[in-house]
Amino acid sequence: MAKQVKNEQMDKLSSLCKRRGFIFQSSEIYGGLASTWDFGPLGVELKRNVKNLWWQDLVVSREDVVGMDASILMHPKVWEASGHVENFHDPLIDCKNCKTRFRADKGVFYFKCSDCDLNFRVNNGFLEMKDEFKKHFGADLFAEEPDHYKNSDCPHCGGKGTVDAEKLACPKCGSADLSSARQFNLMFKTHFGASEDSASEVYLRPETAQGIFVNFDNVINTARIKLPFGIGQIGKAFRNEITTGNFIFRSREFEQMEMEYFVKPEDSQKWYEYWVNERFNWYKKLGVRAENLRLRPHEKEELAHYAKGCTDVEYKFPFGWSELEGIADRQTFDLDQHIKASGKKLRYFETETNTHIVPAVVESSAGVDRTILTVLADAYWEDAEHNRIVLRLNPKLAPIKVAILPLVNRDGMPDIAKNIFHDVKKHMAAFFDQGGSIGRRYRRQDEAGTPFGITVDSQTLEDGTVTLRDRDTLEQVRIPKDNVVKALKEKLE
Ligand code: ATP
Repeated sequence: MAKQVKNEQMDKLSSLCKRRGFIFQSSEIYGGLASTWDFGPLGVELKRNVKNLWWQDLVVSREDVVGMDASILMHPKVWEASGHVENFHDPLIDCKNCKTRFRADKGVFYFKCSDCDLNFRVNNGFLEMKDEFKKHFGADLFAEEPDHYKNSDCPHCGGKGTVDAEKLACPKCGSADLSSARQFNLMFKTHFGASEDSASEVYLRPETAQGIFVNFDNVINTARIKLPFGIGQIGKAFRNEITTGNFIFRSREFEQMEMEYFVKPEDSQKWYEYWVNERFNWYKKLGVRAENLRLRPHEKEELAHYAKGCTDVEYKFPFGWSELEGIADRQTFDLDQHIKASGKKLRYFETETNTHIVPAVVESSAGVDRTILTVLADAYWEDAEHNRIVLRLNPKLAPIKVAILPLVNRDGMPDIAKNIFHDVKKHMAAFFDQGGSIGRRYRRQDEAGTPFGITVDSQTLEDGTVTLRDRDTLEQVRIPKDNVVKALKEKLE
């Protein structure tokens, strides 16, 4: 039941996104291309605002971080050195009955605790509780916790949980007639140049980070930076995901905001803790409610062999707690791999000790699209009292900052409003709307997340004042029409 309610919320959010021009399904007129999305007029502004804030906070405002922008297509050896050719796999299973393909950890399986005998079913990452379990603990106990049951402790007694793999079944038809799991590489391949033989095969990058590592030498030789320092990058990444869904949460083409922070190896723990903290606070700064954010440090077994620590920032999405960003202490693994594979000396000269060292790296890897889903889900509010849906977006993120509306279409009101609009537009994203009832126009802006409204009415004709309306409180105050830009700028600061 929890699952249905949750999906209903996602449906409401995705239909608002479509209705207001935030996000459309890619190639919709041809029936759509699964798990790819297009950002419409409002979506593109929201996305730009998210990326600008990240760039401002992680690159521009810091003296220890520089930016870069690498190619999506890179030498195939990059992905051999990074381990992606060998290891970037998901276990894939085919249902022989209905031909559904699913990730091995996404099928139906049974979780059994050897200590307290708790026994429940997980379907497609969602918990399905057995009746007696429901009776005991209440239906909502684990409703918010998808996906973490494999290899985990018993959610009831903390004892040892095991997954009864024999009972793995197709998440669609329930059949147990399945192929064995085979490894499926998530990188998209394409061909470089005119010939289509395997010598010309290249990959669409599955992450932006490698573009930073392979440019390590170029950056330290040109940017005149000293350890510790970071290199940040925002760009597209591609993964041929097996299990997709949950709107833009997991898509096959998405954007990442990644920063690799290079440090002396002995300082990596300190900087890891620093960045976990910084990045957690960054989402709060975006206006995301603290109770919907948490940090999830990875268990030892979850860590890649080279990583010393990894923590996910998670958001409580309508479908459960899920990863928004990962922060990892990757030690010297990435540079070491490229040193080995390229034969180049990717290292840093330490003047104090007169030695060359390979720095360790602390990585912060965030998804643009997941951040957008987070701020949208967090902002979505059904205001029953006023019968409206509001996106309570942080004004800094809102695609349109102010709507300028003539109350009625006569007495010169549209002209006055148009003049104000032209004035304001020089300073911020504004929208002029003269069609339909004022109530309906306000509702449209509430759904778009526009924090302010300026209305020209009959009193404007008398005393030159307009109303300034606040999206969340609905409070309206009168201000002189010549002060609109100044008043809005103050509010936005
Ligand atoms: P997941 O476990 O959800 O597949 P991951 O651990 O593979 O994610 P990373 O490789 O750490 O993800 O990527 C860093 C970030 O990039 C993620 O935290 C997420 O915000 C974003 N990201 C990764 N894969 C996708 C995807 N398919 N769609 C949208 N964003 C993604």
